[in-house]
Amino acid sequence: MAHWLNDEHTMIRDAVRRFAEDHVAPISERLWEEEGFPYETWKQAAELGFTGLPYPEAYAGGGGSWLSFVIVLEELARVDCAIANSLMANSSVASLLSNYGTDAQKRQFLRPILDGTRIGAIGLTEPNAGSDAANICTKATLDGDEWVIDGAKTFISNTGTRITGPVVIAAVTGARPDGRKEISSFIVPTGTPGFGTGRKLKKIGWRASATHELFFEGCRIPAANLLGERGAGLRQTLAQISTGRILIGALGLGILQGSIDRSIAYMKERRAFGKPLTEFQALQFKVADMATHAHAARLMLYDAAARKDAGQRFDQQASMAKLFTTERAMEAAHQAVQIHGGYGIISEYPVSRAFGDAKVLEIVEGTSEIQRMIISRELLAG
Ligand SMILES: Cc1cc2nc3c(=O)[nH]c(=O)nc-3n(C[C@H](O)[C@H](O)[C@H](O)COP(=O)(O)OP(=O)(O)OC[C@H]3O[C@@H](n4cnc5c(N)ncnc54)[C@H](O)[C@@H]3O)c2cc1C
Repeated sequence: MAHWLNDEHTMIRDAVRRFAEDHVAPISERLWEEEGFPYETWKQAAELGFTGLPYPEAYAGGGGSWLSFVIVLEELARVDCAIANSLMANSSVASLLSNYGTDAQKRQFLRPILDGTRIGAIGLTEPNAGSDAANICTKATLDGDEWVIDGAKTFISNTGTRITGPVVIAAVTGARPDGRKEISSFIVPTGTPGFGTGRKLKKIGWRASATHELFFEGCRIPAANLLGERGAGLRQTLAQISTGRILIGALGLGILQGSIDRSIAYMKERRAFGKPLTEFQALQFKVADMATHAHAARLMLYDAAARKDAGQRFDQQASMAKLFTTERAMEAAHQAVQIHGGYGIISEYPVSRAFGDAKVLEIVEGTSEIQRMIISRELLAG
């Protein structure tokens, strides 16, 4: 364990681990099969203070550190990565509202997603613009004292539930003098006429994390729902995405640790050729590699989070931690299935479900290719 962790971090880890083992593990398989959003678990997580942990107390947050929040996500994802993602995506919206919202916006929209009565969703990706976010086409046009939104978003987490909202979206509000699109952020409450939720997307991972398409047709919101300055939308999103990368990394670390723990338990219990699997060096080496990767990933992630807590720059460290942790999580999930043999393929075994979850992590919040571009760009600059 990293030597700079204090008693508060240990207490939080113990509390989340107990919650995850007692309340999440028993329902994880059912949630996976039904692809249902766990309302009761969300409520319990909020009561324990997980939903608002690193946000201001003035708006129902916990005033805690980002390192503590990383530990919360890591421990939840060790048991169920989909539930951890609901918390992570909610946090992306909370960061935007917390950093750029007015006091009135924070009271109306931030407070309920921190106290857990609602769940926030962030809508950047479109059918033809994912990695290339500057290429979005959803438009917002000012008409008197209202913005009129037209367009579509896809792959949006935390949508289509009974408690979804607000959704913060990015939309094109004009053209810049150099011809690039002017992009702004808007807060769209659920239930606004012209704002519809499309089909639920069926996924190979994160199945209990609700993912839908969103549609906007003449959707009118008050001018006051512009978030931050007009034209600052892409800058705001990119500024908070480094934090998102640390949080996705935390999900990867949870999968890594879960893969190790389940593999060791299974190796002790399963026998082949008259011996427990623990006696086969080929499998011993797999868990040795996983544990080595988990240790390195933990140091990278905690360092990036500690830098954020200290107000230092952390973008490069966040990209490196996200890239390393999620790719190692995918490898560990793969090896954990291998160690479980045929049982590893069956969805009632958590290693099987973690395999699909791990793959999602290499794609969201900037794919592995995009992380390598960001890291190399800074290395080669100047
Ligand atoms: C389960 C799930 C939940 C999600 N939740 C959200 C959400 O809540 N909100 C939201 O806004 N989005 C969300 N997303 C979208 C996610 O952020 C995008 O899928 C991701 O950014 C990749 O975009 P894309 O899918 O359009 O892939 P593309 O950008 O089309 O990429 C396809 C491939 O090309 C590669 N590629 C692209 N550009 C380059 C380049 N310049 N150089 C080298 N390779 C390149 C990519 O790495 C990838 O391998 C979610 C996605 C999933 C799967």
